[in-house]
Amino acid sequence: DAAQPRWARTPLSERVACLRRAAGLMRARRFALAAWEILEVGKTWREADADVVEAIDALEYYSHGMESLTQGKPLPQVPGERNAYRYVPRGVAVVIAPWNFPAAILTGMASAALAAGNVVIVKPAEQSSVMAALVVQILRKAGVPPGVVQYLPGWGHEVGAALVRHPGTRTILFTGSKAVGLSIVQACGYVGAGQRFVKHVITEMGGKNALIVDEDADLDAAVHGTLVSAFGYAGQKCSAASRAIVHETVYDRFLERLIQATDRLVIGDPSDPATDLGPLIEEAAQRRLKEAVTQAGETATVAYTAPAARIPPQGYFVGPTIVTELAPQHPLAREELFGPLLVVFRVRSFDEALALANDTEYALTGGVYSRSPSHIERAIQAFDVGNLYVNRQMTGAIVGRQPFGGHRLSGLGTKAGGPDYLLQVLLPKTVCVNTARHGMPLE
Ligand code: NAD
Repeated sequence: DAAQPRWARTPLSERVACLRRAAGLMRARRFALAAWEILEVGKTWREADADVVEAIDALEYYSHGMESLTQGKPLPQVPGERNAYRYVPRGVAVVIAPWNFPAAILTGMASAALAAGNVVIVKPAEQSSVMAALVVQILRKAGVPPGVVQYLPGWGHEVGAALVRHPGTRTILFTGSKAVGLSIVQACGYVGAGQRFVKHVITEMGGKNALIVDEDADLDAAVHGTLVSAFGYAGQKCSAASRAIVHETVYDRFLERLIQATDRLVIGDPSDPATDLGPLIEEAAQRRLKEAVTQAGETATVAYTAPAARIPPQGYFVGPTIVTELAPQHPLAREELFGPLLVVFRVRSFDEALALANDTEYALTGGVYSRSPSHIERAIQAFDVGNLYVNRQMTGAIVGRQPFGGHRLSGLGTKAGGPDYLLQVLLPKTVCVNTARHGMPLE
């Protein structure tokens, strides 16, 4: 709170210079940072590198974005009156981040808030506190004053919840699970004694994302896209495909090829560049996944699960699993479950595929493989997701090119890495000056 007024007054050019220096420092340490990710959260090299690169992109993107907002927006001017529409910082921001993109998401939320002139308290996920410490260290080294960016690791239900409730914190930037996100939305509705503002909250939450494979889809591309989208980072991405919805005419061929491709994935130590699938984040996640597979086996078909001999005995590994013949109402078809588990559904038409894809409380990512322009157009109109990917994998959004975020119970509709994100951490201020009298200069 004490650091806020000075940072808000610091010229934008200085603020963004700090962020751009931080991007430079990250670029210089790109591989060391990726190595830390491999060690701390079990990403493979390719995934870890992508996360670091996205963090660098975010620092530069929001710096540039803030520069274009500095003049505010033009308003109509009439003689004798000068109107201005400017943006000012909201005040102390809390960044509560998940572990699955430990550099990119945390850096994205923090850099947007900092560029806009807000001070930031960073509360990383318990599982990725080292990555967050490294990011904050880099920001400080780049010139962001210590009071302006603060590192506060700890348990979410203690430290995170306390920061959300504290009467001094104005904006909560959260990315994580639906349960925690909704509890934060609720907590932010409360105005405590001495609190003179309504808290602003941004929540990016989970998904139960579907990928549709149409009857005329290019199956080579669809199989590859499904494999990458479902099993990249062992399915621990909010954007991951957890449901494949396949037209009956290609269902058998698609499934057979998908199983063959899945069977070739290398499960093992993520520091080995040959590895496709590393471990899950923690023991509880491994337990949840194993239970889900057992449960699915009771009412559905486990069409593929990696042979036990291919799964390393040490560590929280779970092999990729494909489930078929599952009832659409089954919790496994409805609830987000972080891990390499894909449910494949058979449908009779593209409309049925769309209806099934939309039959979820989430709306985050969606994918369509089709060669039919009219089907693609229908998906663009009716597939209710935040990010729709056509004839390509549905993970791997790039800052600026694919602004990312969901709605319904996946989020509030804000897009990280998009042109409107900075507006979430700013307050617009209208100034109207009467220039007709009192000797005010006319511009
Ligand atoms: P999580 O909700 O368990 O934790 C996220 C953060 O919230 C952590 O820092 C945690 O410490 C904190 N937290 C926990 N309880 C809290 C409380 N009561 N009050 C305040 N803070 C609290 O999520 P996670 O396991 O770290 O991440 C995985 C989830 O994040 C998945 O649901 C995934 O879909 C989602 N996610 C969404 C996006 C997106 O952009 N939509 C991106 C990445 C991850």
